Amino acid sequence: MRLQYTNHIDCSEEEQPPAILECDVVIVGTGAGGGIAAEILARSGLKVIMVEEGGLNTAKDFKLQEKQAYAELYQEVAGRQTKDKAIQILQGKTVGGSTTVNWTSSFRTPKQTLNHWQQEHDIQGLDDKNLAPWFAWVEKRLNIKPWTVAPNANNQLLANGLKKLGWHNATIPRNVKGCANLGYCGMGCPIDAKQSMLVSCIPMALNLGAQLITKARAERLIMARSEYGSEQSSDRVRGVWLTSLDKYGQVKQKNVTQILAKHSIIAAGAIGTPALLMRSKLDKCNPNIGKRTFLHPVTASIAQMPEQVNGFAGAPQSIYSDQFLWRDGVKGELGYKLEVPPLHPVLASTLLRQHGQQHFDLMQNFTRYQANLALIRDGFHSQSNGGQVLLDSDEYPELDYPLNEVLWRSFKDAMLKMAEIQFAAGAEKVLPLHMDAQPYKTWPQAQRAIKNLPTKALRWQLMSAHVMGGSAMGANTNNSVCDSLGQVHEVENLSVMDGSLFPTSLGVNPQLTIYAISCKLSVSLVQRLQQTMSIKLPDDLAVLSRAIPNNATFD
Ligand SMILES: Cc1cc2nc3c(=O)[nH]c(=O)nc-3n(C[C@H](O)[C@H](O)[C@H](O)COP(=O)(O)OP(=O)(O)OC[C@H]3O[C@@H](n4cnc5c(N)ncnc54)[C@H](O)[C@@H]3O)c2cc1C
Ligand code: SF4
Repeated sequence: MRLQYTNHIDCSEEEQPPAILECDVVIVGTGAGGGIAAEILARSGLKVIMVEEGGLNTAKDFKLQEKQAYAELYQEVAGRQTKDKAIQILQGKTVGGSTTVNWTSSFRTPKQTLNHWQQEHDIQGLDDKNLAPWFAWVEKRLNIKPWTVAPNANNQLLANGLKKLGWHNATIPRNVKGCANLGYCGMGCPIDAKQSMLVSCIPMALNLGAQLITKARAERLIMARSEYGSEQSSDRVRGVWLTSLDKYGQVKQKNVTQILAKHSIIAAGAIGTPALLMRSKLDKCNPNIGKRTFLHPVTASIAQMPEQVNGFAGAPQSIYSDQFLWRDGVKGELGYKLEVPPLHPVLASTLLRQHGQQHFDLMQNFTRYQANLALIRDGFHSQSNGGQVLLDSDEYPELDYPLNEVLWRSFKDAMLKMAEIQFAAGAEKVLPLHMDAQPYKTWPQAQRAIKNLPTKALRWQLMSAHVMGGSAMGANTNNSVCDSLGQVHEVENLSVMDGSLFPTSLGVNPQLTIYAISCKLSVSLVQRLQQTMSIKLPDDLAVLSRAIPNNATFD
C-alpha cells in the first residue's frame, strides 16, 4: 500500500508558501527526533507544522543509484567535511532526515553512557531503568528486532575473525518490516521495509492533520521581544522564519514565510540545530551552543578475501563487537565499537583514495573486499572535547573538529585490531585506510606498518555518520544548553529534540537513543501544554508518562 503524504507544501515549486502560517507547535527537521515528536504531538491533538530543508523523496524515487541518492538525499551531496577536511560527514537532508538513508542498526544506549551522563553532566531522569519503557515503546512502534536472517558475507567475515580470536560478537537489531535483504538502505529503501521516520511517524502525523513544508530552511527564530545579543534579552520565541529553496537546495527567497507557534521544537540534527540557535544569536547568552560536538569518528580497514564478498548486497550491518568499547573503563583511553559498512562502488572508491593506475587496480578487486569499521566513543575522556559548530560568512554551518593525541592513540589501536580480525578471517591482503598504507599480506607485516603510520589529519582517512552534541542537556546552566526535558535554558517555549542533546557520544549507533529520548521529551511537552490547552495524550503514551520525573522545571 502506498503511503499518503497529504498537507504538503514544496517550496521549490512555482508557488511560494503563504507569508504567515500558524500552529501550536512548529518542528524544524524531520529526522529521528523531529519525526517521533511530530507523531506524538499530532496524536495528542496539537496542530503541528514540520519544516524540512530537504525534499519529499519516497520509495518511488529511490532508484538504488549512488549518484542520485547522494545528490538528492544527503547534506552537501554527501561531501560534508570537517573544517580541515579530515573527516567526511554523512548526514541526511530529506524528509525523514538521516533515518531515510541510515543502515537500520538499532541499539539501546549503554548503561555506562547513561550513568556517566548522570554523574558527570547532571542529567536527570534518563537512567537505564527510567528509559526502559520508552525504548520498549519505540521498539514496538518501529519493529526493532534482532535480525534473524544469515548475515551477508561482509558481516559474516567480521564474525568469523572475532570468533577465531575469541572476541565478543553479537547480532544487531534492525528496524525493518518485510526487509528483502537488498542492501541499499543508504540510498533509501525502495520497498518501504525500513521503518524510518519517512514511512512511520511522519505519514501518521500527516494523516492526523499535521502539515509538512519541504525545501524550506528555518533561517532564524522569531524572538518575542528583542534579538539576543542586543541589550535586552528575550525569554520566548514566536516561531521561525523560513527561507524557500529551489530543487537543488539553493536559496530561492530568504525569509519568505513566518511560522507562528505557541512552542518551537528544533530537531535539525547536531549541526543544523546549533547553527539555527546561533543564527538566532542565542549563543550570545549561552556560549555552550555549538560546543562539544561529537562524531564517533570512524577509522576503517579493507581486506581482500579469496572469495567473492559483494559487500553491496544484503543487510548492511548485522554483526558487531563491543570487545574494545570500554577497554580502559568509561573515562580512560577511548574505546570503540566494531561494525562493517556496506560497500557500494562510489562510496568505496572515495575511500580507496590512491590515484591513477593504483586506484584502478584496487577497484578491480572491489567485489572481493570486506571492510571493518571502528567507531570511536568520543567525549568521555578529559581530553576528548569534540568539535565546535561555526557559521561562515553566509551563516552556513561548518564543524571544526580538531584531532588530538587521545584520538590518534585510539585510531591506531583500532586499526591494529581490525587488521588482526581480517587476517584471522582469512584475508589475502589488508589495506588500512591511510594514505601511506599499502596492502599488507601478513599480520606481522601489517602490524609493523600500522604502528608506524603517521598520525596526521588528511593522511588518515576518517569519516562519521553519527553527529551528536552541540546543544547538550544538563541541569547546570554553565555547561549545558537545555535542561533534562530538552527545554533551552533561557527560552521558555523552545525545545531541542535530536542528537544534539547528548553531552557525549554514545558508544552505539544513535537512532534508537534519539527516538526514545525524543519520545519521552515530547510526552512531557504535551503534559505541560495540556495545562492550558484542551489536548490529551493517547493512552499508550499516558501510561508511560508516569515515569517522567518532575524535577526538571519548565516555568
Ligand atoms: C548513511 C548513514 C547511516 C547511518 N546508519 C545508522 C544506523 O544504522 N543506526 C543508527 O542508529 N544510526 C545510523 N545513522 C545515524 C542516525 O540516522 C542519526 O544519528 C539520526 O537520524 C540523527 O537524528 P537527528 O534527529 O539528530 O537528525 P537527522 O535525522 O539528521 O534529521 C535532521 C533533519 O533536519 C533537517 N534540517 C537541518 N537544518 C535545517 C533547517 N535549518 N531547516 C529545516 N530543516 C533542517 C535536515 O535536512 C534533516 O532532514 C546513520 C546515518 C547516516 C547518514
Ligand atoms: S536491506 Fe531491507 S531495509 Fe535496507 S533497503 Fe533493502 S529491503 Fe530496504
